Amino acid sequence: MVSIHKWPFCPMTVFSSAKNAHVRPVHCAFSPPCALPSNKIAYFWMDTGYARPLLLVEADSMKPFFKLKSRKELQDIIDKFPSLPGEAVPVEAALNRVLCQDILSPEDLPPFPRSTMDGFAVRASDTFGASESQPALFDVIGEVAMGTSPEGLSLKPGQAARIWTGGELPDGADAVVMVEYTEAIDSRTIEVSRSVSPLENVIERGEDVSSGNKVLEAGRLLRPQELGLLAGLGVTSVEVHRRPNVAVISTGDELVPAQTTPPRGKIRDINSTTLCAQIRAAGGIPVPMGIVQDSRHGLVEACVKALEKAADVVLVSGGSSVGQRDFTIEAFRAVEGADILAHGVSVRPGKPTILARTGDRALFGLPGHVASAMVVFYLFVYPLIRKFQGFSQPHHLSLRRINARITRNYPSRPGREEYLRVRLTQNQGEWHAEPVFGKSGLIFPLVEADGLLVIHRDSEGLYQGDSAEVLLLP
Ligand code: AMP
Ligand code: MG
Repeated sequence: MVSIHKWPFCPMTVFSSAKNAHVRPVHCAFSPPCALPSNKIAYFWMDTGYARPLLLVEADSMKPFFKLKSRKELQDIIDKFPSLPGEAVPVEAALNRVLCQDILSPEDLPPFPRSTMDGFAVRASDTFGASESQPALFDVIGEVAMGTSPEGLSLKPGQAARIWTGGELPDGADAVVMVEYTEAIDSRTIEVSRSVSPLENVIERGEDVSSGNKVLEAGRLLRPQELGLLAGLGVTSVEVHRRPNVAVISTGDELVPAQTTPPRGKIRDINSTTLCAQIRAAGGIPVPMGIVQDSRHGLVEACVKALEKAADVVLVSGGSSVGQRDFTIEAFRAVEGADILAHGVSVRPGKPTILARTGDRALFGLPGHVASAMVVFYLFVYPLIRKFQGFSQPHHLSLRRINARITRNYPSRPGREEYLRVRLTQNQGEWHAEPVFGKSGLIFPLVEADGLLVIHRDSEGLYQGDSAEVLLLP
């Protein structure tokens, strides 16, 4: 059924297959018009009389979203959430956490000068001029046994002490001669056939870290090496930003838990599992809340319960659009103190996305389609979970990116930023991205995909060989 509309800024008539369509012209230079993918969208070639420019018309038979936000606009809103306060955790449990305190070194590291070689501790000046033809002679006055203090040993000119890698230099010594450059003459005498300079083969006291220095600053990500530093300094507990609790609610009358055999007409809940895993991988603490039927009341109850359970973020997947069976927006409106910050974002997939805020807590309405929910999570929920944990570097706030060449022509409808699932291969040092086709309700194309190739909002598509940014799926 085709109805005819007059677009106000367009001198010609626009056709649409959808009733009550909201018609929007967009320039299009791609391929012949496709068959209608659904009753909601229509594409038409228009002849305006000027060298046959083409017009793509998008018609939407649904209630309109609130003003669509761009990805950037939504990300700017998410940026404004503050990081969570700190908590003390043992250093062994602090991997991938972000410090919220400066750490001053309580002591010198190492606390005494140490040998880096097996050999003999000496006064460097006693070795000057020593060579194979004219070795220097030393009296060996003792040995620094590993793990013991050399107290009582004090080198005078011409004296040496046996020492092992990591041993503490005795008083008077300022260098170590490697055992390879020494020869025992008798049990108390050695020849040294090479000179050493002061501090050669020695780590000085405090050379790694000096007492009182700021060694780590607030905001620092704790990697294995930072934890090692803390261990070396005897710091056993640190203040790090708290990890957010993220409640996961699935909504849909058609959903049953994954453990259940679904009767006809129902499907298993996939999103609870993918979202909980995504939350965990982002460093958050997933709090699965199960399935809620399509009802405003049930959803409000579930959201309130999640907030009572100290959720910092509530994710509701499904019901985020503007259809008759979509209640997420109404439920969020009914949560006390909640402001709706966005309903609708111009990304594909993922347009029916909702963000609300109550205090410093966020409520997300994600589309139910499995790929849409995953993509929206990576674009908007992931950065917030990371921000909450104190991450601030751009590369910690989003998925890693690479550039890749697309392996075939790919037309895209302008107006929304598109995230195309791709499989990646490497050839002669370059990445190649092969589109994985499939509707956003399918999970398997995601299983086959390595990344999401980004097609800009105004782009009409990519030609084979064009380079584009790809977000790497974890
Ligand atoms: P909705 O966003 O509620 O309109 O749902 C869009 C599509 O995603 C529908 O086909 C739903 O059945 C499906 N869907 C919604 N939630 C889930 C879920 N948790 N797991 C798998 N599919 C879902
Ligand atoms: Mg639904």
